[in-house]
Amino acid sequence: MKQASLFLAASALLVTAVCAEPAKIKCLIIDGQNNHSWQETTPVLKAILEHSGVFSVDVSTSPPNNANPDWAKWQPHFADYGVIVSNYNGQAWPKELHDALVSYVKNGGGFVSYHAADNSFGDQADYNEMIGLGGWGGRNAKSGPYLRLRDGEWRPLDGPGPCGGHGPQNEFIIETFAPEHPIMKGLPAQWMHAKDELYHSLRGPAKNLSVLGHALSEQTKEQEPMLMAISYGKGRVFHTTLGHYLEALDGLGFQVTLTRGTEWAATGKVTQPAPKPGELTAGPKAALRPLKPVPPSK
Ligand SMILES: [Zn+2]
Repeated sequence: MKQASLFLAASALLVTAVCAEPAKIKCLIIDGQNNHSWQETTPVLKAILEHSGVFSVDVSTSPPNNANPDWAKWQPHFADYGVIVSNYNGQAWPKELHDALVSYVKNGGGFVSYHAADNSFGDQADYNEMIGLGGWGGRNAKSGPYLRLRDGEWRPLDGPGPCGGHGPQNEFIIETFAPEHPIMKGLPAQWMHAKDELYHSLRGPAKNLSVLGHALSEQTKEQEPMLMAISYGKGRVFHTTLGHYLEALDGLGFQVTLTRGTEWAATGKVTQPAPKPGELTAGPKAALRPLKPVPPSK
């Protein structure tokens, strides 16, 4: 009898251990100021991240401007999270908050620069180093070189020229550049991305940066970095230029690279399976997976 109860107790422990889900990675989306519709995109980003099963997601929304009485009180606590996803393109933060983000990443935190987040903080050297490349936001030739694909390598190209641009929105092909990187492993060599802006002519310090995926710009006739991984201090940064508006967020390729990139930024690993063969293809149309937005909690 005693042996039977011990056996039962042991079995119960085993079942608990096997059934217990791994702890979710805590993720914080930052928004509140953006020349893009963050009010519409953040709930979809949240849905995409949660759909992966890997993340629990909170949102921290800044006051609408720095004259707002709550501006100085807005103090998201980065250290509570494994990764911060920025959907913010707006006014400079109070120095204390800006420095808190930079030291969070420097000390091993994960950061994801999503679409126009790379337009933000153009005059902040540490932020530009974190995201590798950026555009607009007062950036110019002094912000750093372009990255240009020459003889199979990404090389810095100095010289005059704009910093940031895009043509009309279209579906376009993304090419995998780093197939062995955890974010890209198992993804097809090429896939059709949903209707989006194709950013071109980004410039920046581009230190410790790996281009993971790129696309051919009709404007520059150059391959332009679309997906990037940057190491910054002990931290990791995933930079996706993709995701202008909801059509782009419906793209399976956008979703897969966002969730894999966010997990890598948080942990340095990717546990999510790659799409099955045929799910993400080179076209003729982009594979779409519309996900229901999560209603804002406030
Ligand atoms: Zn845009």
